[in-house]
Amino acid sequence: MLAINWITSGERVSPCPACHAGGHKRHLLDTSFDAPGAARTVALLQCGDCGARYADPVVAVDYHDIDQDGMRYYVEQGAGIDVMLEPFALLDRRPVAKYLEVGCSFGFAMAYARRALSWEVLGFDPGFVAAAGRRMLGLPIEPRLLDEEAVPEGGFDLVFCSEAIEHIAQPDAFIVILRRALNERGVLLLTTPDGDAVTPDQRPELLLPVLSPSQHVILYNAGAIETLLRRHGFVDVRVRKNATQLQIVAARTPLGEPAAYFSRARYRAFLQDELAAHRDDTELTAGFGYRLLCEDVNAGSFESAAATYQRLRDTYRTVYGYDIETADAVPLPAPANLSLSQYGERLPFNLCGVWYCRGIIALLGDRDFAAAAGYFAAAMCVGGVLRAILNAIGTDDISIANFCREAETARFSALAQSDPAEAVRALHALPQNTKGNRARLQRRLFIDLINLGHFAAAEDVLPPVEAAIDADTLPAAIAYGRYLLVHKKDAAAAASVFARLRAATIDDPNLAGWLREVELVQLAALAFADPPASLAAMREVAANRGRLASAIFAAHRSLAAHQLFTDLANLGHLDVAEQVIAAYGPPIEQPIDVNNASTAKAYGVYLLNHQRDPAAASKILAGTRDVVLAELTAKPDDVGLVGLLRETEIALLTALAFVGRKEALAAIEDISLNRAGFDADAFAAHLQRVRLRAAELFTDLGYEAG
Ligand SMILES: [Zn+2]
Repeated sequence: MLAINWITSGERVSPCPACHAGGHKRHLLDTSFDAPGAARTVALLQCGDCGARYADPVVAVDYHDIDQDGMRYYVEQGAGIDVMLEPFALLDRRPVAKYLEVGCSFGFAMAYARRALSWEVLGFDPGFVAAAGRRMLGLPIEPRLLDEEAVPEGGFDLVFCSEAIEHIAQPDAFIVILRRALNERGVLLLTTPDGDAVTPDQRPELLLPVLSPSQHVILYNAGAIETLLRRHGFVDVRVRKNATQLQIVAARTPLGEPAAYFSRARYRAFLQDELAAHRDDTELTAGFGYRLLCEDVNAGSFESAAATYQRLRDTYRTVYGYDIETADAVPLPAPANLSLSQYGERLPFNLCGVWYCRGIIALLGDRDFAAAAGYFAAAMCVGGVLRAILNAIGTDDISIANFCREAETARFSALAQSDPAEAVRALHALPQNTKGNRARLQRRLFIDLINLGHFAAAEDVLPPVEAAIDADTLPAAIAYGRYLLVHKKDAAAAASVFARLRAATIDDPNLAGWLREVELVQLAALAFADPPASLAAMREVAANRGRLASAIFAAHRSLAAHQLFTDLANLGHLDVAEQVIAAYGPPIEQPIDVNNASTAKAYGVYLLNHQRDPAAASKILAGTRDVVLAELTAKPDDVGLVGLLRETEIALLTALAFVGRKEALAAIEDISLNRAGFDADAFAAHLQRVRLRAAELFTDLGYEAG
């Protein structure tokens, strides 16, 4: 088991292996590690001159030290092939024909260079995994370390060295060998962990792979690696930070614009080609199939994802004898005392990610929320077991850690749809606080439940009202205001929440994207709570305090004014609604369509009851009715539309009665045709209401009955 002891103050005298500066070095931490056979403690020092961190003593352990199980884990799950290939995007457009990879491991990047880019490839790696890659992928990998004599001087256009230089105790000699292999126009491409990621507050799943105390002897930061490469004649050195990794491109002639040697589309095509080429190899099918599944799901191609998943499902049924589609049928191991090898005998190493992807297909593709929640729970379970095993041998898996975290979030989102009560129970079952994780999940679940209209369940997970409003807490605070408005019917309290949120979004440029939504809900609350105050709030909207671009602002202002008018008119505050029209124009500017139909109905009622203009009112209401009827043929079960149609028909009948008896009779006749094709019973009740209303109107207006 690995222990990390951070040293708050301490120094050692030691020469820096990267820049050779002597003198005192800061002592950052000690790692204690029970290596099989011998426990050891290694110090990590930091050079004040170049910034490199390095192990003291600088002893590189045997690089051949990985077994069959470690290899299978690497091929099926551990190798981040896309991360390995992303640095290819840094290369400029100079032509590449000959590619050399040093420390190529299984050879995934070489396979991509050969298949996707048609480069002539050669690799050097003495390790067990490299021997397997040579055999399984049929790659020209020399099973030894690269030395001066191994390749012709200037024989290569590109030398790639991914996650290797941190293992090397004498980097100068190593860079000399790499440089010698390159021609004048040749490019060196490196990746290595970022030493600046070594901080006490770093997440363990990111820190451990960077430290890898038994293997990594020098951890460079951007400055340290650039210093080293410039010293060896590379005049153009560019360093990109990608999470905890440094990607470095270096050349002896100036680098130009990047070429597109890596893209997600190219990577996906590569995985498809490799999968097709190795259909009889279960380990490669598992490895390439799993990565293709992740790409398919990330791209939202659920049909393709389902086919890839089926390949994996069939493969695993053959290898393990069970069906991963039924998570309950898979014998889940208890975490205690299992070795990596014992885990691999029972389960595919990538099952966490495969089940996560299966859950996403169920959630977003099939919309089978209960099934999705089951896959996410199963993914978290196997991911947790595998990470415990990896932690016990001093490492971790970032992508499994990410899948576990994403699966937990996605599971709540699935449960909110399939079983809100279970979602609430699951939240309360979480441990009190793991670095704000529970608070984050609680806010997400609350938002989902409010958006789905499950107000009672949402009440059981009310998030604490945060003093500080930021990008994490704002969406939940908006949902809380909606809860007060819609469920608690406390419009005044909701309006005061929204006023506070609006002030926060105006002050903080990171929250600017939320301003429009906050202003709209604030107006809605004020229309209920305090109609005159809603006019003042509308003037604030019109002042464009968030400095929106003019076209966006114009659209937002008219939407806000139309929405406010509609709410005020529907609530009967017709005098205030009139002031909205006076200041911002009529609420219907363009032809009536499904988006402004409820505003059009409200405007028709306003023209009839407030402006006493039945002719204009009946024109608007007839147009509204036509639009709603047309929309109902596409969505016959839309409750909101049905309600809108009925209210519009009653209002239209009323307006036409004021126009004349003949017009009112024609309206009743048309309504009785049941053009939307409603169920007879439901329609009879509506028609009864229409006739009663007509009788009232005819009496009031002194018309002869129909
Ligand atoms: Zn140094």
